[in-house]
Amino acid sequence: MTQPLDFHSFRHGQFDITVLSDGPITLGGEIFAPEGNPDERAEIVVRLEGADNTAAAQSNIPLIVTGNEMIIVDVGAGNRFQPSEGRLEANLDAIGVKAHDVTTVIISHAHPDHMWGITRDDGTLRFANARYYVGRTEWEFWMGEAADALPEVLQPFVAGARRELSAIADRVKLVEDCDEIVPGLKVLATPGHTPGHISLVLNGDVPLIITVDATASDIVSFEHPDWSFGFDMDPGRARETRRVLLDRAVADNAKLLGYHWTYPGVGRATKNGETYQFHGAVRSAS
Ligand SMILES: [Zn+2]
Repeated sequence: MTQPLDFHSFRHGQFDITVLSDGPITLGGEIFAPEGNPDERAEIVVRLEGADNTAAAQSNIPLIVTGNEMIIVDVGAGNRFQPSEGRLEANLDAIGVKAHDVTTVIISHAHPDHMWGITRDDGTLRFANARYYVGRTEWEFWMGEAADALPEVLQPFVAGARRELSAIADRVKLVEDCDEIVPGLKVLATPGHTPGHISLVLNGDVPLIITVDATASDIVSFEHPDWSFGFDMDPGRARETRRVLLDRAVADNAKLLGYHWTYPGVGRATKNGETYQFHGAVRSAS
């Protein structure tokens, strides 16, 4: 099946960015808005064009080209989390980029929908020639004893994170807040969704902040910034991080890119009193 070449592309500073996808996942209203009441959840599901208390969450993965670098932020889930995922490699292929062309892979955090696609089913690396970057705190959490203490229901996440992270152990560089990965692209520590979750800031006329799951929903994270998202591991810390991030985005008039937001997940934030509003960019085809 041929893929339509309608991915959203834009130039930002010295970066050429194409928003790809690993395919949508389906989530329940209680994941989008654990603290919403049934009416509020139903309204959110309708706005996401879902029904029956479920809606699609996207997996927006930017391919960032600068100089000789081909960078992707997160790799999706392979086909191991939900069957609608695992499309990243085919989508790269559709724009003429082979997996072995990717020079740099940045992993925002170790949840399945962001990194279970590091390896193929035979255990080899999908992006075999890439350098990998993971937050030091994130790596130490999932690989250390603290992850053993997570509830039984999360142990499959622990096993999956360890399987994928172990596969890159000999080539990963562990990064911290403000580290520069390539010129003009820096790490922004955004803990809470996971202990070592990172976002990225790219220099341009205004900053571009790739927020990933620090602001997981383009509806709830903005309009109800104090509500957690279903997979926030430390809701209190996630809430603080979210408000700091959104206040900065408003102050800097930053461009934002969110992983699970309605495709292409690019836009800006404004503030209305104590809450925020997301303004999606007009979509352009590449
Ligand atoms: Zn996620």
